[in-house]
Amino acid sequence: MGISRRKFLKLSGSALAGAAVADAAGLGLNVSPAYAHGAAAGIKQGRQVPSICPYCAVGCGQIVTVDEASGKIVDIQGNYDSPISAGTLCPKGAASYQLVVNPLRETKVKYRAAGSDHWEEKPLDWAMDRIAQLFKATRDANFNELQQVPDGTGNTFTRRVMNTYAIASLGGATMDNEWNYIHQKLMHACGVVFLENQARI
Ligand code: SF4
Repeated sequence: MGISRRKFLKLSGSALAGAAVADAAGLGLNVSPAYAHGAAAGIKQGRQVPSICPYCAVGCGQIVTVDEASGKIVDIQGNYDSPISAGTLCPKGAASYQLVVNPLRETKVKYRAAGSDHWEEKPLDWAMDRIAQLFKATRDANFNELQQVPDGTGNTFTRRVMNTYAIASLGGATMDNEWNYIHQKLMHACGVVFLENQARI
């Protein structure tokens, strides 16, 4: 069926506003099951905790609903009181609940040794120690104290740089301003110059 984007939006809007069935509007789309599901779904009850979406630097407001009896999160919605997002969340933020409650989420450290064909479960402390040891070994083996740099006249001169090009730090969207600040302090103190924080701003 050929339909322009403008017509689709116009028909969708009128159908959603007034009627449960958009089929009659020429879309061939029956939204009755979605309406029925929405009407049957109970409003999640519990203690409401204001929070911030962890996914990106926009920082949209969220309300996390926690079941008092179990202490477990039962819902995450947009916070209408947020001056940043006024109750809205993008699709990623709207799916935050699945970040917390998801049977597919990995909760244990998995390690696969070089040359191995299988993963082993390891304690978190073991993984943190290994990262620190490899970080230090890589830094020690590739640390530049002095470097020849151009002087602008076609010659070079020796400069004290105290850095390493063998390590790079790639951040994640969940890193907030404070975390990024501390992280870049740590990385620069170690001589790491390749830093990317992945903030989508
Ligand atoms: S990921 Fe989406 S909902 Fe979350 S802060 Fe960014 S824009 Fe807002």
